[in-house]
Amino acid sequence: MSQASSHTAASPAAHALPSYLQADHLGPWGIYLQQVDRVTPYLGHLARWVETLKRPKRILIVDVPIHLDDGSVAHFEGYRVQHNTSRGPGKGGVRFHQDVTLSEVMALSAWMSIKNAAVNVPYGGAKGGIRVDPKTLSSGELERLTRRYTSEIGIIIGPSKDIPAPDVNTNEQIMAWMMDTYSMNEGATATGVVTGKPVDLGGSLGRREATGRGVYTVGVEAARHLKLEVRGARVAVQGFGNVGSIAAKLFAEAGARVVAVQDHAGTVYSEAGLDVPALMFHVKQTGSVAGFAGAQALVADAFWDVPCDILIPAALEGQITRANAGRIQARLVIEGANGPTTPEADDILRDRGVLVVPDVIANAGGVTVSYFEWVQDFSSFFWSEEEINARLVRIMQEAFAAVWSVAQDKQVSLRTATFIVACTRILHAREMRGLYP
Ligand code: GLU
Repeated sequence: MSQASSHTAASPAAHALPSYLQADHLGPWGIYLQQVDRVTPYLGHLARWVETLKRPKRILIVDVPIHLDDGSVAHFEGYRVQHNTSRGPGKGGVRFHQDVTLSEVMALSAWMSIKNAAVNVPYGGAKGGIRVDPKTLSSGELERLTRRYTSEIGIIIGPSKDIPAPDVNTNEQIMAWMMDTYSMNEGATATGVVTGKPVDLGGSLGRREATGRGVYTVGVEAARHLKLEVRGARVAVQGFGNVGSIAAKLFAEAGARVVAVQDHAGTVYSEAGLDVPALMFHVKQTGSVAGFAGAQALVADAFWDVPCDILIPAALEGQITRANAGRIQARLVIEGANGPTTPEADDILRDRGVLVVPDVIANAGGVTVSYFEWVQDFSSFFWSEEEINARLVRIMQEAFAAVWSVAQDKQVSLRTATFIVACTRILHAREMRGLYP
């Protein structure tokens, strides 16, 4: 029996879970189940409801057939998982990636439940995805894929049911197509069905930068507790998309030195600090950080040995593992990505005195401004960027402070502290609502 399944079977609250919910390997869903088991002893009487968190409320698997440009038909597998809706409608992004699996989407949907509760926005958690490499599709194929997928999941999404948003490889244009497809099927323009839309279509100012800004905001708070001066601190960033590039830019503007950046195609290093706006321009032109002039190219694995004070994993899950956690030089890890650190690596970092600000708080800035967008769409009244950023920073700082004090009080990691705060909110809502019928 694998480690993960024996772990799940040992959980006191676990009844026989359906096979697809069991962790037969330590994939993302198995990692999430471990995290829930770690928090259960801290949930008091609410632990009786913890099984709720181990079973997504609703899982939809859809076939997404499209005409390719050459006239042939291709089929893709799509998902939308609504993990929990006790505190409000489902909320979470849609990912287009060749490695998307049901286990991954289930875990990502569960992490959305935790994240939304941690920053106290009135949502449950959901996530969607299509197993596809969008780089292999033309713009027309991508549009047809997005529209057919939206139509297929249209039976469970809606402004008061479940609200998708961008995630890995999805963007404002894809949100515009999703909004349009849903609206066409409904016979009325429903801007509130997705967030992360273009500003001219009911999107919010500041949404594009929000996740990176939130990463930066909690990073500054965590650094203060560590007495780590941000000015002059060396920062290494993995992933240079919407999250990593903005976080890097804000740290650089605050006087930090962004010494290393890694993306899917390359790793660049400069002891003196990379010119972040120039790197962003290079990525816009070429699609990757590889080949950036004025920086040293490193082999991918050397990224983990880079001398740095702050490490920001902002790419995909499962990046910081038993294999590299012992080599990381940073004192502070801020998880811009969802699920970048395995539980084993979490323990190694803790034992080495490295502070990890977990994904479920660190990258919650995106969904926080998604919430602002949704509120603005409902009221058809739009706020200034200053107001949005000020509210975002306040929410992130308050959420971080609350989690920090629980971590101190109970002598647990920030991840477990965030899970304590979030699971308590979710399960309290669950208990108050009661079982239907
Ligand atoms: N995909 C983002 C996340 O993982 C944002 C989700 C949203 O705005 O709903 O948090």
